[in-house]
Amino acid sequence: MKFISYGAAREVTGSRHMIISNGKKLLLDCGLFQGRRKEAEEKNKTFPFDPKTVDAMILSHAHIDHCGNIPTLVKNGYKNPIYCTPATKDLCFYMLRDSAFIHEKEAEYLNEKKMKKGEELIKPLYTQEDVDAALKLFQEVNLNETFEPLPGFKITLREAGHILGSAMLQMEITDEKGIAHKIVFTGDLGRRELPVLKDPFKIEDAEILITESTYGERLHEPMSTAEGKLAEIINKTVERGGKIIIPAFALERTQELVYSLNGLMSVGKISRDLAVFVDSPLAVNVTEVFRKHKECYDIETLKKFTDHNKDPFGFSMLKYISDVEDSKALNGRHGPFIIISGSGMCEFGRVLHHLRNNIDDHRNTIIVVGYMAENTLGRKIKEKRKIVNIFGKPHRLECDVEIIDAYSAHADRSDLLDFATHIKGLKKIFVVHGEEKSQMAFKGALIANGFNWVQIPQFGEEFEI
Ligand SMILES: [Zn+2]
Repeated sequence: MKFISYGAAREVTGSRHMIISNGKKLLLDCGLFQGRRKEAEEKNKTFPFDPKTVDAMILSHAHIDHCGNIPTLVKNGYKNPIYCTPATKDLCFYMLRDSAFIHEKEAEYLNEKKMKKGEELIKPLYTQEDVDAALKLFQEVNLNETFEPLPGFKITLREAGHILGSAMLQMEITDEKGIAHKIVFTGDLGRRELPVLKDPFKIEDAEILITESTYGERLHEPMSTAEGKLAEIINKTVERGGKIIIPAFALERTQELVYSLNGLMSVGKISRDLAVFVDSPLAVNVTEVFRKHKECYDIETLKKFTDHNKDPFGFSMLKYISDVEDSKALNGRHGPFIIISGSGMCEFGRVLHHLRNNIDDHRNTIIVVGYMAENTLGRKIKEKRKIVNIFGKPHRLECDVEIIDAYSAHADRSDLLDFATHIKGLKKIFVVHGEEKSQMAFKGALIANGFNWVQIPQFGEEFEI
């Protein structure tokens, strides 16, 4: 039996791993590589294996760095089922469409330039039609139900507590000698006490662990501090008549923020008269998926909302905006109010307009609640640079910038260690999905906790397991 990492190997994006046993190939995730454009484009376009030869695929969750290259896989000949939870399937419908739209727009923009220069035109990585073809292969599997996608591959999806529908994989795979091996793939491991979601499942025993390591070298602020801090920042800004801009990912972070604001208003910690706008067509669609999949809610959410027929993602002063004219109308509106808008790292999307219109007013506040990658506008704002470029023009950053780290959807170092040390009989650990520095630190921590066999796979490196 073999294990190979074909993505998220010594990096964070492009999650894609393979287990080969008895001549059968099982693919775990098929995410999009993100980062430097040229390099990512090459990695996304070409496969280090023939997609036609893959026998089955399992998808851990609907984040683009885990599902975003499925349409290319299918375009290149993959024809077998893609197993995932019902919520992941519904989320992928919107996430992959949105991704295709971005690729199509990007190709259109580049082709305009190429046309002027008389250069050969490019094709988008994939289109809406490719997404439609891929979605046909999705098959729903409920959490905690064991299924056998291939002979000798018994698999159970377990709650990962990372985003709606996210799963870790508990596998029992029989090798060429007829011996069954217990293998766990964390996917992206979540945290305890995240709003709405259930806590991550605890695995009791396994022989091999394939673990993510995004925050293998750091600890998060406790989740319990997030809402208090959010209320404090909002109240301070409201007092001076300012607007609050929160750049947020359309999937999960937006819904968590809405949930938090709903809670804060209901107990009077922030004004019940404060208007809140979620300005993102993708977030509007994704929130509908959240409303549908109540089976993913934790007990607290069910007790507080569902049992009383209340909507966790709606309250009287909240307005979801899809229409572009409604979005523009916010420009002329006087504060105080809150806008939650994407993209999360301020690289594109409607949040750019709101930042441009509000960044130079000292009364306003931008709240950073998510990961901001290097070289993004979001990172520059987080670093409180004096001047930032928006739509190619310099703007003075005069407004307040506040950072709330506690909303992270990933396990931190202590959560990751707890997860691994709880498993009995663990012999081998593969550390994936992390920047190299973070992976090295986490490997050190695992060794210090008594694990002797810890590997950080290189891209395409084969391990006999
Ligand atoms: Zn994720």
